[in-house]
Amino acid sequence: MTRPPAPVPEQLAGRIVRPGDRRYPTLRSTHTTRATPAAVLLPENTAEVVAALRYARAQGAPIAVRSGGHGLSGSATNDGGLVIDLSALRSVDVLDRPSRLVRVEAGARWAQVAQALAPYGLAISSGDHGNVGVGGLATGGGVGWLVRHYGLTIDHIRAVEVVLADGTVVRADAVTEPELFWAVRGAGAGVGVVVAFEIEAVEVRDVGVARILVEARPDGDTVRRWADVLRGAPRELSAAAMLLPYGSSTVMSVTAVVAAENLRRARSAVAPLLEIGGLLDHRLDVVPYPALVPTTHLHPNVGQQPNVTTNGLLSGVDGATARAIMRTAAGPDRVLVQLRSVGGAVNDVAPDATAYPHRHQDTLVVASAFPPHGAARLDAAWRGLAGRVDGAYVNFESRPGPAAFARAYPRATGAKVAGVWRRYDPDGVFRTAHSRPNGGR
Ligand SMILES: Cc1cc2nc3c(=O)[nH]c(=O)nc-3n(C[C@H](O)[C@H](O)[C@H](O)COP(=O)(O)OP(=O)(O)OC[C@H]3O[C@@H](n4cnc5c(N)ncnc54)[C@H](O)[C@@H]3O)c2cc1C
Repeated sequence: MTRPPAPVPEQLAGRIVRPGDRRYPTLRSTHTTRATPAAVLLPENTAEVVAALRYARAQGAPIAVRSGGHGLSGSATNDGGLVIDLSALRSVDVLDRPSRLVRVEAGARWAQVAQALAPYGLAISSGDHGNVGVGGLATGGGVGWLVRHYGLTIDHIRAVEVVLADGTVVRADAVTEPELFWAVRGAGAGVGVVVAFEIEAVEVRDVGVARILVEARPDGDTVRRWADVLRGAPRELSAAAMLLPYGSSTVMSVTAVVAAENLRRARSAVAPLLEIGGLLDHRLDVVPYPALVPTTHLHPNVGQQPNVTTNGLLSGVDGATARAIMRTAAGPDRVLVQLRSVGGAVNDVAPDATAYPHRHQDTLVVASAFPPHGAARLDAAWRGLAGRVDGAYVNFESRPGPAAFARAYPRATGAKVAGVWRRYDPDGVFRTAHSRPNGGR
């Protein structure tokens, strides 16, 4: 029997966007996925999130939770269901400057967070893109530009406000609801709607930024040296590197960030990276932290970047692994490969302290295939690396499901995540959205 449509709660009047509404075209999709939800709900405070969730559940349709809409799997939208879009919950407040405690609402973008904190001389290391939302990143991990210095974003969360599947509002921290607090930090997508995070920021105003272009040797030597330098570097140095085709060869485009305001210190921290291969170009600047996640990144998400992405973590990169990375990036099935430094402060946290258990690895490898290529191309390119990686980061995986879950949450972590998800969301309201495959593109 078809369920009669639930009445629209008064507080959501004007905040339900359906096909035909002029707002619908810029709200229906995410960064990676064009979709046709039946409605997008735009709550503006916690009480309205509760009302939106109750209304959405009463419809009996699939529910997606969206903060910034940058999730790679496209799970923040759906076809025919309801989307709870938190973009109107975007306040950023410094609660206590001496202890650097900041309250950030889930719908803020990291560019907005950086901009709001800069006048206080504070920053939260988040990610590399200003348009990524707080909610998705801070429930998965958060590999930011200062990751080796600061750790993951989740490592600095001190409390969260969550709307549970039954509409209860809970404030969780290390003492109150500790299991919920544990799960939010790494596996938050399955517990509820996190409306706000209390995060301890760091004192950062300016940072050194080096852009370095080197030839990437096909034998993997450049990749191996990049990883070696990062592994032994002072924690103030974090870096990302893209392996890009350049004619018949490959170049490595490195962005290195130094948590130092002094140009001389920044120069000495990045100097070893200038030696990793044939240097083509480099420059070093000292810039305010918000320049790394600028507001110019802000844009609506309309499905403009479909891709299939996977990733893996490594502890050290030996010669064979470096060659495998080069084959993924430059072999016959060439896909876009990005390397990110992790380790440093990330590994100060015990593996069981949060639902992100990967606390001994030092390199993250991310591979993406873009149209016209898809999953088959990505899997073929990744084959040589699949057996070498040790775990994965949930937020760089575009095909959620049991295999991805097992890599992101291995062994005891997975059992605990599943248990906490079941306890706080017994009907699987959020798990449905989380495990939505994105069509196997
Ligand atoms: C261009 C780009 C650059 C990126 N760079 C980085 C990077 O440098 N470092 C890094 O760590 N990651 C990075 N990511 C990955 C990013 O962490 C994830 O895509 C993240 O999910 C995006 O957050 P969002 O709020 O924008 O996502 P959304 O698409 O809004 O959400 C994705 C999923 O997260 C869950 N979710 C979202 N909000 C909430 C909430 N409030 N409560 C509970 N669950 C929620 C839901 O399951 C939702 O479907 C990048 C992604 C892209 C596309």
